[in-house]
Amino acid sequence: MSKPVFVITEQRDGVFIKVTYEVVSEGRRIADQLQTELITITLCSEVLDIAEQLGNYGADKVLVAESDIFINYTAEGYTKVITDIVRQIDPVGILLPATAIDKDLAPRVAAKLDIGLATDCIRLLISENGKIIACRPMYAGKIIADYEFDSIPQMVSLRSNIFFANEPDPSKSAIVEKINLTISSSDLKTVVKKIVTTTAAKMDLTEADIIVSGGRGMKCPENYKILEELAELLGGVVGASRAAVDAGWRPHSDQIGQTGKTVSPKLYIACGISGAIQHLAGIRSSKCIVAINKDATAPIFEKADYGIVGDLFEVIPQLTEELKKVIEK
Ligand code: FAD
Repeated sequence: MSKPVFVITEQRDGVFIKVTYEVVSEGRRIADQLQTELITITLCSEVLDIAEQLGNYGADKVLVAESDIFINYTAEGYTKVITDIVRQIDPVGILLPATAIDKDLAPRVAAKLDIGLATDCIRLLISENGKIIACRPMYAGKIIADYEFDSIPQMVSLRSNIFFANEPDPSKSAIVEKINLTISSSDLKTVVKKIVTTTAAKMDLTEADIIVSGGRGMKCPENYKILEELAELLGGVVGASRAAVDAGWRPHSDQIGQTGKTVSPKLYIACGISGAIQHLAGIRSSKCIVAINKDATAPIFEKADYGIVGDLFEVIPQLTEELKKVIEK
């Protein structure tokens, strides 16, 4: 059989993050086109029963690397284990989720293996000569570039909420194998002592289907209450522009845009956000953008699918009330 396709999964507290299922499913589609196997690797600190679920999404083999050193992400620990395994199984392609961890991990792995890497891809194709073509936005999303690799394995990270996850098929299963590790805590130069979370646990913006985002037009942090209410009603989460984050109204983890998070929700509601190019860079792959702004000439309206010109402090409460009526029906 030809070289397998390899997927690096990401789990938090024993639960796979949503994009992992999307990446495994895309890995299956790529493996099918190349007529080869799909192998996944999961690094975890405790026995991970859910690992075998990946078989339902199309994995042929599920490798599990289990050790106390994986309680928290460490660059050296993850890089060493993954590069060792990649050298052993010699895959044709390596796919992983484009997340905050990936931004640290993927370039390290690619550099150690001396291979090419295309990050934050939004589409993968297979060329006539059987190579992966990785499509990713460039220049703040103004163009989509197609990349072909000179090296094997071809390494790509995939943006959340873009690739569809297969329906889990319980009749499909994978061989689950535990990996014998050649690494211990003494091999790590850095140790994570404590993680301080600044915000209440909420769904990561990159995985959210609905985002209600507020900018400088919100005027003060207290006013975000109306966005929280609307987001809760819709089952979404609140995001922010950099202006709001720089003003100290919202935590940095809420920032969307070029220097914040790239999001791809089904619905993005931008409230009091002008639509600067750096903000648009983070929302271009949203399926539907709704803008609420009192300035009819704000650039956000050029990108919005629906626009409401008006004072957000009047529009949002009305919208929330109307939605409540619809939802209650
Ligand atoms: P503004 O541009 O001030 O817009 C506020 C909007 O609110 C206006 O359009 C106004 O009409 C509207 N408004 C005011 N009151 C009301 C009301 N009552 N009702 C309705 N509408 C109202 N920005 C990001 O967002 N994310 C990034 O990641 C990012 N990265 C950057 C990186 C670099 C290198 C640089 C140089 C800039 C970056 N920026 C980023 C900043 C970006 O250029 C803008 O300054 C920022 O996005 C503006 O935020 P804003 O739209 O909230 O504020």
